[in-house]
Amino acid sequence: MESERAKALAGSTPVPSAMNKFWNIIFLIAIITAGFIYRDTLRNVWSQTLANYFPCKTAISYSIGTFDTRFGISKADFLSVVKSAEDIWEKPVGKNLFEYKDTGNLKINLIYDIRQEATVNLKNLGTSVENTKSYYDSLKLQYESLNADYEKAKVLFESRVSAFETRKNAYETEVSKINRTGKANKETYTRLNVEKNYLNQEASELNVLQNSLNNKVVELNTMVKSLNNLASSLNLDVKKYNTIGQNLGEEFDEGLYKTGPDGQEIYIYQFENKSKLVRVLAHEFGHALGLEHLEDPKAIMYRLNNGYNEKLTSNDIKAVKELCGI
Ligand SMILES: [Zn+2]
Repeated sequence: MESERAKALAGSTPVPSAMNKFWNIIFLIAIITAGFIYRDTLRNVWSQTLANYFPCKTAISYSIGTFDTRFGISKADFLSVVKSAEDIWEKPVGKNLFEYKDTGNLKINLIYDIRQEATVNLKNLGTSVENTKSYYDSLKLQYESLNADYEKAKVLFESRVSAFETRKNAYETEVSKINRTGKANKETYTRLNVEKNYLNQEASELNVLQNSLNNKVVELNTMVKSLNNLASSLNLDVKKYNTIGQNLGEEFDEGLYKTGPDGQEIYIYQFENKSKLVRVLAHEFGHALGLEHLEDPKAIMYRLNNGYNEKLTSNDIKAVKELCGI
C-alpha cells in the first residue's frame, strides 16, 4: 500500500530533466572536490588496505619525517642505517619490501627526548658500554646509588608537597571565610597576601622538582633496561630489576610504529649505537609489514631490543614468509 502510493506520487510529480542533470553535476563536483581535499587520506587508506590484504605485494615507500640533529647522526648516515634495516628483511625473503621515496607514505621520525638524553648520560657514566660482567657490576652499583638518591629526594619532595597542601588548605579556608563574612582588617589582608605569594612560589618550585624527579625516573629506567639486557645476554642468574612507576623498560619503547588515516609512521626515540638503531628500525619495519611480536628473545620481532644480531632469526624468517605467502 505504502509503496504503491509512493510510486504514484513520484509518477505524478516528474522532476524536470534539466534540473536532474544540474543536481547530478553538483553531486559529481562535490565528490571530486572531496576526493581532492582528502586525496592524501584516501591514498593512505588505499595503500594500507592493499598492504593489509596483499602483504608484500608492493614495496612500502618510506621517507624521513621529523629529524632531530641532537642524535648526532647526519641524514645521509641515518638513511644508510635505514637501508641496512631494509636489507635485513629483503635479503632473506628475496623481495623488494621497502623503498625510499622523497614523498614516501611511511614517515620515519627521529624524536629526541629524555630517553635519548638518559642513554647518553648512561654512556658517559661507564667508561665503555661493554658486554661484560664487570661492566654489569659497576652499572649495578651506579644504579643503586642513583636509586638511593632518587628515593631520598622523593621522600623530601613528598613531605614538602604535604606541607604545601596543609598551608594551602588553611589559606583557602580563611579566604573563603572572609568572603562569606566580609570581615577582615588590614593586617589580615597583608598577612594573607604574603601567604599567597609564598604558596605561588612554593608551587612553582615543587613543579620544577617534580620534573627533575620524573627525569631521574627515566634515567633509572634506562639503567634498568641496560642491566636487564646485560643480565640476559651474559646469562646471569639475577632477579630482573623492576621499573619505577612508569612503564618503561618493558616494551621496545625506543621505537614505535603507528598507522592510521594520516598515514604510517615510525618513531625512533632512543639508540645506544648503530647496531641497536638498525635493530629498532628493522623491528618497526616488521610491524609496518604486518608482523606481530615473537616469543624468540633473539628475534628482531621480540618485544625487547635484547639481541645483538643484525639478522633475522629462523623464527623471524618463518613469520615473514608466512605473511608474504612464500
Ligand atoms: Zn614491537
